Amino acid sequence: MVAQAYKNTKSQEIFSQAKNLMPGGVSSPVRAFKSVGGEPVVFDRVNGAYAWDIDGNRYIDYVGTWGPAIVGHAHPEVIEALHKCLDKGTSFGAPCVLENQLAEMVIAAVPSIEMVRFVNSGTEACMSVLRLMRAFTGRDKVIKFEGCYHGHADMFLVKAGSGVATLGLPDSPGVPKSTTASTLTAPYNDLEAVKKLFAENPDQISGIILEPVVGNAGCIVPKPGFLEGLKEVAHANGALLVFDEVMTGFRIAYGGAQEKFGITPDLTCLGKIIGGGLPVGAYGGRKDIMEMVAPAGPMYQAGTLSGNPLAMTAGIKTLEILNRPGTYEQLDRITKKLADGMLAIAHETGHAATGNQISAMFGMFFTDRQVYNYEDAKTCDTAKFGKFHRGMLEHGVYLAPSQFEAGFTAIAHSDEDIAATLTAARAVLSEIK
Ligand SMILES: *Cc1c(COP(=O)(O)O)cnc(C)c1O
Repeated sequence: MVAQAYKNTKSQEIFSQAKNLMPGGVSSPVRAFKSVGGEPVVFDRVNGAYAWDIDGNRYIDYVGTWGPAIVGHAHPEVIEALHKCLDKGTSFGAPCVLENQLAEMVIAAVPSIEMVRFVNSGTEACMSVLRLMRAFTGRDKVIKFEGCYHGHADMFLVKAGSGVATLGLPDSPGVPKSTTASTLTAPYNDLEAVKKLFAENPDQISGIILEPVVGNAGCIVPKPGFLEGLKEVAHANGALLVFDEVMTGFRIAYGGAQEKFGITPDLTCLGKIIGGGLPVGAYGGRKDIMEMVAPAGPMYQAGTLSGNPLAMTAGIKTLEILNRPGTYEQLDRITKKLADGMLAIAHETGHAATGNQISAMFGMFFTDRQVYNYEDAKTCDTAKFGKFHRGMLEHGVYLAPSQFEAGFTAIAHSDEDIAATLTAARAVLSEIK
């Protein structure tokens, strides 16, 4: 039906110009449609659960600007607060009371956080937290997991050997081997591999960093006991446990995955939602560790625009809306309906598929294997995902352009939006092979 009328000629024109102006035509690689084929659509505006491209097509949006839009795009209360704030100026480069307000909200919400430092992105939060892990423990090595993304800083751009815990090799040219030599990797959900790394590197590992629910290899949930086990083995070895909750913070629950699973890490990274659509990241945790950060302590980390009033305002208003009664019950209900519905339709239409869903995060994998780590995720039929993605786009549904990205819902998604998405999924999945 919609597929017949679908046109995106303006998007194509703008994007072909963009390719001469910016590498790949984008400001961040995930926005290009490299892994699904075809060209991206160029957005004109967003509101609630929807995005409109410059050709006027409307999409039900499950990317939500990669996570921040959990209360819906351009929420009227957020926009109104931003307008008021704008009149007072956009950046102070001096303390402002809004920083205290957002800091108090974050400390009250996230179990592990007693003190917080604001930065401008998730990448900045993760690279700073790593420096802090090293500063506090006096050790250089760090353990990360295959398929987990912690921003684009050198020491996190590491590809692990095929399923075997191994020494880090750089994932990108320009990353020195000497930097990633300190990055040890293990398969997600594999506690034994982590224990082995500690045994092989006594008194050298500063800590473990992970996505407590993986969103950057599709949606992958931790096996029962995995997070507890990591905390135990880290502390037994004098190392720190760090949750990168840039994606899961305020999404899995108001207090993040650590609230959901009842496991308190030593340090936590935040981003995305706490900026409410403006650039914000944060790291925080135990006070004795955070007091090492300059100017309270010797570990240097700074930022010209960090804690600017506009970004703080969007964060404060977004958290305020999220903290209202019933938010997370609603998110869980609609996301479950969507994820279960999609999977059932995939099976009915004869496709091998499995899925994961937790709170406002979901993913469907075109494989018959239950996905517990990146190795499992790599068994997916990515060519089929490409066709599915294109079909959904033409039916007015905007999914992340990669099999290896989680989907996100917002409180703005209605039951009608979910029903329309499932109708589109049935049409597309009936057509593709
Ligand atoms: C998005 C993300 C980052 C990086 O955040 P940016 O704001 O894009 O720099 C880091 N960690 C996780 C888990 C993320 O999802």
